[in-house]
Amino acid sequence: MPGKGSKKVEEKIFQCRFCGACCQGQTTVSLDENDIKRLVAFFGKPYPEILEKYLRVTGNVIQMKIKDGHCIFFNDGCTIHPCKPWRCRQWPLHPSLLADRVNFQTISSSCPGLASNIEYEEFCRYLKQILNKSGANR
Ligand code: SF4
Ligand code: SF4
Repeated sequence: MPGKGSKKVEEKIFQCRFCGACCQGQTTVSLDENDIKRLVAFFGKPYPEILEKYLRVTGNVIQMKIKDGHCIFFNDGCTIHPCKPWRCRQWPLHPSLLADRVNFQTISSSCPGLASNIEYEEFCRYLKQILNKSGANR
């Protein structure tokens, strides 16, 4: 979890506008074992029930169901915010942004919260600091 310092750095490159764009579409992020455990604890229901109601499985990929073109948990914001999947927490500050400018432009065009007023190189410097602190830059 990022500390206070990295939160301040984060604000330089990202401030969520709560537009919900990242929760729209025909797919969602995939969930790992810990995401599932948190969902089970959050709802206090057995896993088969959670699976039946909220999740969809394609091969060995588990995602959230889509309802009306968005994640089933979206309702004017994330309704499972305290236990949302780690990939939702990480978004949009993903290591792939460091790979090249095109990734950055692609993600920026779908997320209005990413800073548009700083140079890509400066953006990368801040993002590296954040990822290094959170241990996500592997
Ligand atoms: S698209 Fe970006 S600004 Fe909009 S809710 Fe998602 S993270 Fe926040
Ligand atoms: S879990 Fe929450 S943040 Fe993640 S896609 Fe669904 S509604 Fe959006």
